[in-house]
Amino acid sequence: MDEKKQKCNIVLMGPPGGGKGTQARILHERLGIPHWSTGEMLRKETLSGSELGLQIKELIDNGNLVPDDLGISLIAQKLDGEKCLRGFIFDGFPRTLPQATALEKMMRDRNLNLEVVIEIQVPDESVIERIVGRYMCAKCSAMYHNKFKKPLNFGRCDSCQGTDFVRRFDDTYETVVSRLRKYRAVTSPVLPYYEERGLLVCVDGTGTIDMVSEKIKKVIGH
Ligand code: AMP
Repeated sequence: MDEKKQKCNIVLMGPPGGGKGTQARILHERLGIPHWSTGEMLRKETLSGSELGLQIKELIDNGNLVPDDLGISLIAQKLDGEKCLRGFIFDGFPRTLPQATALEKMMRDRNLNLEVVIEIQVPDESVIERIVGRYMCAKCSAMYHNKFKKPLNFGRCDSCQGTDFVRRFDDTYETVVSRLRKYRAVTSPVLPYYEERGLLVCVDGTGTIDMVSEKIKKVIGH
């Protein structure tokens, strides 16, 4: 594989529950580049008990997006760190057109280039089934699903042997429906923005985790 064709500055897009987080973690482990999820950063803030955390929790609980400025400032901090020099994976950012234009500017200002935007495509019915059944290890965050991915040994995490599992507070049926609506209305319009710039590649996200990961590997060239 020609090294010039290998892409390391990656944005993963797609509906909630479409597999962005899972695929980002796989890429992070395989390529050793950071995985930044604005959703995870925001959920961490909700646990801090701060006033900001409470406001964020209310927005997330209702399936709403947090204000653009907040998402943009979280990403700006990451782009200012040295860790991003070998590449990075954005998961859940950008989610609106103002975020996409801000990202373009932030990268230009730092002499960085976005190399590929991968949209993981999954129909709404599958998204709902995936989200309402998913849960994770409380210790190492390894993801599981009531139907599609149970731990090999009942009640014990495959990765760290932990025995406590948790669900995301926004993974309820009602919130998922609202998050999906938001995705189709506000985030989908970001896709043509990247298509116009020749950066968008769509990947069918309905197969197994390994199948999707192989497709992504082909897209980024390593
Ligand atoms: P995620 O973990 O990516 O599914 O994100 C969980 C929730 O965090 C979303 O439903 C939004 O409420 C919020 N969120 C995550 N990323 C962003 C973003 N880039 N802009 C606005 N809100 C976000």
